[in-house]
Amino acid sequence: MIKSSSDLYKSVSYIVLALAITVILYFVNDLSLQSMLAFTTYSIFGLFCLWSSFHLCKSKNLIIAFLFFEITYLSVYVLSISLSLNTSLFDFIKGVDFSFVVFSLLACIKFVFNRITNRSSSTNTSSTDSCSSYSCSSNSCLKSSNLSKHLLSILYFVLVFIGLFFPLLMICYYVATGSLISSDIILALAQTNGSEGKEFFVSNFNVMWVVSFVILVVIVAVNYILLNRVCAVSKSAESDKQSSKLQFALFSLFVMIVSVFLALPRMDYLPYAVVKVTSRQLDNFDAYKKQKGARLEKLKTLTSLKLDNNLNADGNLFVLVIGESETRDRMGVYGFNRDNTPNLSKESESLNTVLFKNAYASWPQTVQVLSYALTQANQYSSIETVDAFSIMEIAKAAGYTTYWLSNQRKFGVYETPITVVASTADKEIWTNGSAKMEGVFFDEELLNRFPKIDPKKNNFIVIHLMGSHQKYEKRLPSEYKVFKGDDENNDYYDDTVLYTDHIVSEIYKKAKSYSSFMGMVYLSDHGEDPHIVGGHDPVNVNAQMLRIPAVVYFSDNYINRCKNIYTNLKANSDNYWSNDLLYELMVSLLRIEGAPNFNLKLDIASDKYDLDKNSVMTMYGKKHVTEYEK
Ligand SMILES: [Zn+2]
Repeated sequence: MIKSSSDLYKSVSYIVLALAITVILYFVNDLSLQSMLAFTTYSIFGLFCLWSSFHLCKSKNLIIAFLFFEITYLSVYVLSISLSLNTSLFDFIKGVDFSFVVFSLLACIKFVFNRITNRSSSTNTSSTDSCSSYSCSSNSCLKSSNLSKHLLSILYFVLVFIGLFFPLLMICYYVATGSLISSDIILALAQTNGSEGKEFFVSNFNVMWVVSFVILVVIVAVNYILLNRVCAVSKSAESDKQSSKLQFALFSLFVMIVSVFLALPRMDYLPYAVVKVTSRQLDNFDAYKKQKGARLEKLKTLTSLKLDNNLNADGNLFVLVIGESETRDRMGVYGFNRDNTPNLSKESESLNTVLFKNAYASWPQTVQVLSYALTQANQYSSIETVDAFSIMEIAKAAGYTTYWLSNQRKFGVYETPITVVASTADKEIWTNGSAKMEGVFFDEELLNRFPKIDPKKNNFIVIHLMGSHQKYEKRLPSEYKVFKGDDENNDYYDDTVLYTDHIVSEIYKKAKSYSSFMGMVYLSDHGEDPHIVGGHDPVNVNAQMLRIPAVVYFSDNYINRCKNIYTNLKANSDNYWSNDLLYELMVSLLRIEGAPNFNLKLDIASDKYDLDKNSVMTMYGKKHVTEYEK
């Protein structure tokens, strides 16, 4: 009697305590992550979880399992420090709390699983004593208990793997590539389709991927074996103690499972934070797409949009060519020691051409950089990408017939702002509709698909090249594989620059063949370092990935009609510029008046342009370009 009432008392207090902890976690969940109260609560909670598991399983095995688990989890911070990425003590402690909770959860689950398997085997033992009273034969009972044991073992193995997923992701990627996985890398892979993902691994494959797989297996196996040995339930007579422990285990388990929803996502363990940033970015992409309708509605109300009277009254043609992964550090026209830009070098001497000497990418990756370049959003103003009009939207609203012609893939797993911008065009032409990266067209296919325009209309054509995207040799017709040095990677890369020079020059010829041709812009989205995994990534960013070519070609007609734009650009051609300001440049070149929130100070074609070497930014406004000068 006494025993059962004390049991009841204990159960009730566990339930009350569990609910109290749940309420606290729920309340803290709403606080800022940087708040001291949240930080302290999570730290106390992490310690509580750890204490719970030690209370349940006081054994040497638990200590060993715990130590190995912590080494696995915290090695991520050792990597990040060794790569001199700054992790604050604050972030580190949150990561430690995270590891405590996950470890305790696994230990607790092990305790409960042990109880289940132990009970079924002891039931089984008693059944052999009095076999007749059971409907099953002792053999079948033994079988079913073995089966449940195996099933629980498999389930536990899966749980251990899930528990180790985040550190494994980072450790294995580091072993294979020598750098930490970042949200941008996950994003880049998420935007690819299967064949391009395969291409990424093929072009970056080395024996270290195999090593990393072996390490993955070893880490999971060792952790599983060690955790499997913790919390052994003794079969001795201490059943009272054991049953009270089971109550405590169930209480702890409840609290920890609640924390998976209310606390763990807030304790920013490093790899988890990376995954979280990625999913937020994908949400932004989605929001940009969803906002498109709202932006178009808003555009309709902008009655002030019109074209400058100085343009041809009967039709104007403008072309924007967006290159891929071309660094000006490996271009002849910018002083590189291989003559891989013969056409541009010749053109740059013409009065019709303005070559930007100091252009930078705002970020080293396509989607992010073009989200800014093609829209009003930039590093210097607070306008959010979701609310930002794109150059396509504005040009169309101002009366241009718009074209999007691309040799890049259209279909990834996710739609990006680039595909959304493209979808505004009156006509979209994708050479690569099959979504394959390999076995599709070289960039010269874009010349065949160049739209037949009506020269009596205003036309704006955007052309997106495949340019110097890895793998370089796959972008090249055989006659363009010309450079032979002691580094094949560099040779092929320099070949792609030569090939792009040819393509851009041919596009220019095509455009000039129309009497309405007014101007053309060529620039690269970002640069490239052929010796870095993937060629460009923000974790390993260097000058070569950010220093890009940019050039504007004018017709004589345009120079006569819009002399001030031409003069201003010529005067600013040595000035510093980042390609998130492409939107301003295009609005200005296309002579669109009345564009909302247009800032002349950010327009390099204006005499009011007021950025310079010290104020031009990169890395989404986090770095000065002066850090990436040669
Ligand atoms: Zn790119």
